[in-house]
Amino acid sequence: MVTMKTYLATFCKRLTPGRAAGGVRFDGPLSPNPTDTHQGEPMSDIRIKKLEERFVRYCTVDTQSDASSTATPSTACQLELSRMMVEELQAVGIDDAYLTDYGVVFGTVKGNITDRMVPTIAFVAHVDTAPSFHAEGVKPIVHHAWNGRAMVLPDDPAVVIDPDENPHLRDKKGEDIVTASGTTLLGADDKAGIAIIMGLIDHLNAHPEIPRGDIRICFTPDEEIGKGVSDALMADIHADFAYTLDGENPGDLVAETFSADKAEITIKGVSIHTCCAKDRLVNALYLASKIIEVLPKHRLSPESTEGRQGFIFVEGISGNAAEATLRLNLRDFELDGLKAQATLLQETCALVAKTEPRARITCTVRPEYRNMRYWLEDDMRPVEMAKKAYIDEGFIPHMLAFRGGTDGSIMTEKGIPTPNIFCGMQNPHGPMEWVSLQDMEKALLICARVVGYWGAAA
Ligand SMILES: [Zn+2]
Repeated sequence: MVTMKTYLATFCKRLTPGRAAGGVRFDGPLSPNPTDTHQGEPMSDIRIKKLEERFVRYCTVDTQSDASSTATPSTACQLELSRMMVEELQAVGIDDAYLTDYGVVFGTVKGNITDRMVPTIAFVAHVDTAPSFHAEGVKPIVHHAWNGRAMVLPDDPAVVIDPDENPHLRDKKGEDIVTASGTTLLGADDKAGIAIIMGLIDHLNAHPEIPRGDIRICFTPDEEIGKGVSDALMADIHADFAYTLDGENPGDLVAETFSADKAEITIKGVSIHTCCAKDRLVNALYLASKIIEVLPKHRLSPESTEGRQGFIFVEGISGNAAEATLRLNLRDFELDGLKAQATLLQETCALVAKTEPRARITCTVRPEYRNMRYWLEDDMRPVEMAKKAYIDEGFIPHMLAFRGGTDGSIMTEKGIPTPNIFCGMQNPHGPMEWVSLQDMEKALLICARVVGYWGAAA
């Protein structure tokens, strides 16, 4: 039996760094070109039609996750799409497709290399949509060969997607743009990723000459609430490297995310009827607002920072005069910065507690996810393979330090290096969300190249 360690050691010996980084040559029929046809129709048109059909259908299924739920997955509606995906995977020949009892869909595209070891690569996308905006009754609209003018969404004409305010939309004239109808999000985050992966399977089925090891397919629930990747998933995925398809701009490649902690501050005041509250009531809500007031929101909040700057985000407040709870997200690219934020929070709580000794204030900080760079920089092969695929597909890779986390942040920390490839979604988590089907096709072709390059390198 080959253990994962010896398997990888063997593989590492076979690849020299230079070869892995850029010297791998595999020239399969991967790119759209005018002679690439099926029954007279260009393959690119066929791919786009299929992407549209699948994507629009997936978007109409409500899969919103819920951070307050203790169930796994957090909402039962996600399972509707997950069950659908098992059937669709089986329909395209993935015989081993199944849904786990923790809500993850797995399947395998069988490899075609039998005479040597090839790493198993996984492609990952999440079925859930964000809890932050309406996600029920999504009505996707396909603006075929978009005319370049502002798109007024019919169910709320106040929602206008204007190229003047969306720089990435400006060069999309003539492409097929999908939007929601004005009152809901679209769900391109991350149903575009799922449709792309399904298109990748079609592509691999049609191109047996692309050399490859086993390709694992993985559709997760609850990514939006940070619960997509469990130890059970890590045990069942059986992959050496993975890629999430969960990024925005074509050309963006993510090998670095925030490191994240979550803080909860509990304030216990003194509760008493207001009739006799004079000098006795200690209102927990006042103390909670004092803590928020003291935080340096002009230099350490999401709305005052950008690029590589970290922040503290007051995510929620709940409670009453007797007891209040504050929930905060701590974010920084470096662990030192994250630690400094936790210290600042503790000091702020201590300061406010001093102003009211009768109150009890506690602050607990727990880790959420870590910057994937800490592990990827030890083994950049998955990033280099993706970079080469971007370049060969006509993109200059833009290494984006992503101001958030992905399923890949946790997967990388837990042992499977998982950078993030774009799926083309724009303005996620709101009514202005849109995606270009042509961008999705480019992501599909990049994934096909990634598969071929790993196979050729083995
Ligand atoms: Zn996402």
